[in-house]
Amino acid sequence: MPLWFARGLRRGVVTTRYPARPDGSATSLPTPPAFRPRQLTLQTVDRMIAQCPGPALSRAADTLVFDVGSCTACGRCARVAPLAVTPSGEFELAATARSALIKMIPILGEER
Ligand code: SF4
Repeated sequence: MPLWFARGLRRGVVTTRYPARPDGSATSLPTPPAFRPRQLTLQTVDRMIAQCPGPALSRAADTLVFDVGSCTACGRCARVAPLAVTPSGEFELAATARSALIKMIPILGEER
């Protein structure tokens, strides 16, 4: 009988302490992007939208619309615009309303 199984029976706990305590493995998880508005230009945003494999990114005039609920944290947008995109480090994305997962990000960068 594997040791972890016997230990679980003895202690009554067979999983990690998450969410009561942070799980160390979480630091290595891919997370959705965070965007730097001043680094975003219309051109950059359109390139990111073209690279996004799903419906997570779209544009409404001079606003980037980011649907966090549709993001797979693939990192393609960050590869297209490394100065404008950074990992958010946030993977706890549960929300009680779908609308809470839609982020409106102003596009404040200037074309060069
Ligand atoms: S990480 Fe991937 S899925 Fe998420 S917004 Fe960027 S390109 Fe789209």
